[in-house]
Amino acid sequence: MRDTFGRVADDLRISVTDRCNFRCVYCMPAAGMAWLARDEVLSFEEIVRLTRILVEECGVRTIRLTGGEPLVRKGIEQLTGMIAAIDPSLDIAMTTNGILLREKAQALRDAGLRRLNVSLDTLHSDRFRNLARRDALDRVLDGLAAAREAGFEPIKLNMVVMRGRNDDEILDFAKLARREGYQVRFIEFMPLDADGIWSQDDVVASRDIIEAIDREFPLEPLLNDRPAPATSFRFKDGAAGGVGVIPSVSDAFCRICNRIRLTAEGHLRTCLFSLQEHDLKVLLRGGASDLEIRDAVVRAVWQKEEGHKIGQADFVRPAKSMSQIGG
Ligand code: SAM
Ligand code: SF4
Repeated sequence: MRDTFGRVADDLRISVTDRCNFRCVYCMPAAGMAWLARDEVLSFEEIVRLTRILVEECGVRTIRLTGGEPLVRKGIEQLTGMIAAIDPSLDIAMTTNGILLREKAQALRDAGLRRLNVSLDTLHSDRFRNLARRDALDRVLDGLAAAREAGFEPIKLNMVVMRGRNDDEILDFAKLARREGYQVRFIEFMPLDADGIWSQDDVVASRDIIEAIDREFPLEPLLNDRPAPATSFRFKDGAAGGVGVIPSVSDAFCRICNRIRLTAEGHLRTCLFSLQEHDLKVLLRGGASDLEIRDAVVRAVWQKEEGHKIGQADFVRPAKSMSQIGG
């Protein structure tokens, strides 16, 4: 599926729920989030049908399950297995806050989940309580251990870096990567938080993050076999693990973006910052054929935005925040 800028969309992010058991400050409000009604959320059968059309008819090769918190969706391991059954060569990944991994990691692995990104923004309990608004650091660390026991390797850690809140832990996360073999991804804070607290001043540029780590632990860039939003590095001294940055704000990867997103209520988004969505649920529930759905997706991808405009005078924030879109 090509867009008018020649990019090919073959990476699908599926939000399986808008609900979450955390309330991260950069994502959700402390209270008062309005959830979708159960019947507004796509059923497993609807998700699988859409995914099959996208894989078989539209060339999607990688799937990421996300949310909200994907592990709070009941039966997520069954859904993972149903998606894996579409095509055993599919690369299926998940982004999770990790709190339920002790219970779920093995079943997910057995169902065909190949890769896991666990979000972790601090190694201090008190800070964790402030950032996630839940007292759950120990459970997340135990969830990470469970993921390893289940055979996920390597595990990626996603750290959203916020100036003055956790940027003093960048080196600690690099040390953690070296000690435990994790691939740590430092993500720039984006204006997708529900509270609207984002400001450009809170963003720590990826370049500065890499320079800070490189001064302490010299780094070597990894060459990607295909264009990728994360710029990844290994440690020159041969230590385990690695680090990477996702410079979504300071050096956006829009020109190589191969992503599309399906929201929990079945809307297709061609960009995190899209101002319009394409309602596929209405087609699914209105008796549309696979070909009609395929055509609607292809038309939507053709209209994919050139890129987001953060920092420009005409930037408009989408009405939805990150957990409602699916990160
Ligand atoms: N609940 C899961 C989790 O937290 O990993 C999956 C959904 S979450 C929306 C997906 C990713 O988006 C997480 O790694 C989270 O840290 C990141 N994220 C959320 N809000 C963000 C923001 N405003 N800027 C940058 N990343 C953000
Ligand atoms: Fe929940 Fe993930 Fe958003 Fe945190 S970032 S509130 S864990 S959806």
